[in-house]
Amino acid sequence: LEAQFAQSQKMQAVGQLAGGVAHDFNNLLTAIIGFSDLLLLKHKPGDPSFSELMQIKQNANRAAGLTRQLLAFSRQQTLRPQVLELPLIIDDLSVLFKRIIGDRITLDVEHGRSIWPVRADLVQLEQVIINLVVNARDAMPEGGSITIRTDNVSAAEAARFNFEGFVPADYVLIEVEDTGTGMPPEVLAKIFEPFFTTKELGKGTGLGLSTVYGIIKQTEGFIYPISVVGAGTTFKIFLPRYAQVAAEPAGKAAAPVKDLT
Ligand code: ADP
Repeated sequence: LEAQFAQSQKMQAVGQLAGGVAHDFNNLLTAIIGFSDLLLLKHKPGDPSFSELMQIKQNANRAAGLTRQLLAFSRQQTLRPQVLELPLIIDDLSVLFKRIIGDRITLDVEHGRSIWPVRADLVQLEQVIINLVVNARDAMPEGGSITIRTDNVSAAEAARFNFEGFVPADYVLIEVEDTGTGMPPEVLAKIFEPFFTTKELGKGTGLGLSTVYGIIKQTEGFIYPISVVGAGTTFKIFLPRYAQVAAEPAGKAAAPVKDLT
């Protein structure tokens, strides 16, 4: 698993490089799409070149879609960290989750008691949980169940799951468990690599989990997948507990809240 994380970090760097290329690429694609539009205006739908031109345009559009995703994945988005209550965020998303998973999959949400706050970017954190729920759904074409759990995890307990330069701290755990296909070790070893997908063309981009990985890293948390072929998969996400900055002694102005990012 350690090797898996080292590999994923390397791939993340590659992904970021690709993001720079994607930006220039997008400009070129805009020109291709623009010029094919111009040419299409000079041809009638029955003309022999019309359908070929349409092909050029459609495929350039697809490529543009892909570069947009690549950009979203690699862009250094401005983070707006705020103190968040995970159970509230998950409950707010449950209507969306039900729409994502459909009728054949059941969703259970189990929150621990008095879950500690975390400090993270709300939009990014939502994206993490949504990506995991979408993957869980895709792993259960015949139906099944998804369980989302939150819990407080002590520093000692969290250490059992962390392999990357562990700094002892309390964490809040979000767990997304499914009863789907599970993954063999050779797939599990690659899931955080950008563009790694086992889904058919057009269904998966392979950017979901590498995005999740990047966001969790930025939030100074970590992610731990467990998967059993034929039984299902659980993603454990650990986010550092947000601890209130101690109040300044009387007489002094209150210190601004420390930026933990
Ligand atoms: P994508 O969903 O576009 O394929 P991801 O990066 O989100 O990209 O996932 C990469 C791969 O990891 C998936 O193609 C799939 O093989 C595997 N995977 C992710 N989540 C699960 C899951 N819950 N159950 C089984 N396989 C999964």
